[in-house]
Amino acid sequence: MNKQELIDILSDSTKNDWLFKEADRVRRENIGDEVHLRGLIEFSNICKRQCKYCGLRSPNKEVERYRILKDDIIKTAANAVTLGYRTIVLQSGEDDYYDTDKMVEIIRELKKNDIALTLSIGEKTYDEYKAFKSAGADRYLLRIETTDENLYKEMHPHASYENRKRCLYDLKSLGFETGTGCLVGLPNQTIDSLADDILFFKELDADMVGIGPFIPHEQTPLKDSQKGDFWLALKVMALTRINLPDINIPATTAMETLNPNGRIIALNSGANVVMPNVTSTEYRAKYEIYPGKICINDQPEKCRGCIEGKIKSIGRKISKEKGFRKK
Ligand code: SAH
Repeated sequence: MNKQELIDILSDSTKNDWLFKEADRVRRENIGDEVHLRGLIEFSNICKRQCKYCGLRSPNKEVERYRILKDDIIKTAANAVTLGYRTIVLQSGEDDYYDTDKMVEIIRELKKNDIALTLSIGEKTYDEYKAFKSAGADRYLLRIETTDENLYKEMHPHASYENRKRCLYDLKSLGFETGTGCLVGLPNQTIDSLADDILFFKELDADMVGIGPFIPHEQTPLKDSQKGDFWLALKVMALTRINLPDINIPATTAMETLNPNGRIIALNSGANVVMPNVTSTEYRAKYEIYPGKICINDQPEKCRGCIEGKIKSIGRKISKEKGFRKK
């Protein structure tokens, strides 16, 4: 679709039903009915950055900070493997304690399991990404957040849009399966720029795209802003599926936070991935990028069973494979 077609569909609510059905059809015909589960380990909530929407931003002194050290990350991952996960995702704030050497050690240890490993630890140099890849990391998630450069600047003090883009192209060129995505409903975000976001995913040839509604956090400068619209986020996701038919698209946790059935609705509107939390319960509440995060009191075992039941209830099955993009 060209930009005007994207804008037309995004602004016309009478096309919603058609759009969600069409995205579901494109998903089924291109990649089938299997749902890939990724076990998410939120291993540090320490962050040097100041993203205005995020509860983990460094100026937030209310959040109790934690780091999970190597041995515990390894144990958490081993438990996830026992539960049947074939992909582990390591996510954190931008925490310089985990320098290249420490990350390389962790990657090597985790890759002793028969799993795909995804990193989501922010902006790094080309050489750092290269070291992670050589150590065995398979995938990397780094949302562009928004392709509206002015809005990007406004949302990310002391950061650069150019550098974020540079990171994504470096990751692609190093052979990572590269995931990106955007927030929907940031203050002053336009429909026009959401269309540009989708065109950017296509231009990058993203292998995975995660779309989530913006949810205001009380301890951030955006605390009084309006939350993103669940249905608009779903539309951006569905259009992403139609325009990038073979990629991996998660039903995001932020969608479930705004709608109690959000992930199932997403799986029926183009998504084919779910990323259940496998972090120990003691840390979950502290990794509060936005409020109202689901499952913060649950054990990994419970999340696994719960999501499996939901997926089966809509006639889909859980993949036993690592779930690389099927080009
Ligand atoms: N430090 C890593 C991981 C960030 S957390 C990185 O920079 O990539 C993962 C995602 O959570 C972010 O990319 C952002 O899109 C999302 N997020 C952060 N704050 C949010 C909020 N208030 N509402 C919804 N999503 C949010």
